[in-house]
Amino acid sequence: MHTPRCNHATGDVADYANAAIAAGLSEIGMSDHSPMPDDFDKPWRMDRTELPEYLQEVEQVRDIVKDQLDLRVGLEADFHPGTQAYVAEMIASYAWDYVIGSVHYIGDWGFDNPDTIQIWDTWKIEDAYCAYFKLVEQSAQSGMFDIIGHPDLIKKFGHRPPADSVPVNQAIESMLQAVKQADVVLEISSAGLRKPVAEIYPHTRIVQRAAELAIPFSYGSDAHSPNEVGHGMKECLSMLESFSIHEIASFKQRQRTMIAIQHA
Ligand code: ZN
Ligand code: FE
Repeated sequence: MHTPRCNHATGDVADYANAAIAAGLSEIGMSDHSPMPDDFDKPWRMDRTELPEYLQEVEQVRDIVKDQLDLRVGLEADFHPGTQAYVAEMIASYAWDYVIGSVHYIGDWGFDNPDTIQIWDTWKIEDAYCAYFKLVEQSAQSGMFDIIGHPDLIKKFGHRPPADSVPVNQAIESMLQAVKQADVVLEISSAGLRKPVAEIYPHTRIVQRAAELAIPFSYGSDAHSPNEVGHGMKECLSMLESFSIHEIASFKQRQRTMIAIQHA
């Protein structure tokens, strides 16, 4: 979940924690958009100089709520070829509980940014999907991340390749094999339900195949405001359970434990 430091979220950390307690959650994690090198899409993330304050704020709230809620601190980092050294150094700079790796860019195109949606017109949808899943595959292979964020974000605005597209289906299979091989976790995210695609990330078929491969999942609301904390959790967990997945991943100091899905 995010904080206003990324310049597109509202509510402070205490508001997210209180919303989680009110929703009956026992554990949440803040993972705001990480800093990136200076020339890289600066408006959508915290500045490197803010990192210590971000940590301090989460740690302060963590101490206040500790009897009611486990508050974990991480980052949502970008996987973007050419920036790996910067990201690796930043990850190593603090004992994060978890680091999410997300692909938001194909080349320098922020494909999920509404401001550049017209660039979709210059792409064949299948090609954009293949390029995207290749990057997700590389993000898993990078070894830098614990969790692959919103694993089919490319569908955000509802652009769809044919369901039987051989190249796209091969790219997805290859990505999932890499995730399995690298032993990283896939995020099931309710954010897609709030976007034009109106669907959980990732698609049912990806969840099904991941389940066959015994790839673990974590759940995320990707909340950008306190009222989104826990949004769509039931739908996400039900989808996992429909494929006989009965536990989700939890991270503390980058150690993964699996916890049983609880029924309210
Ligand atoms: Zn965001
Ligand atoms: Fe993201």
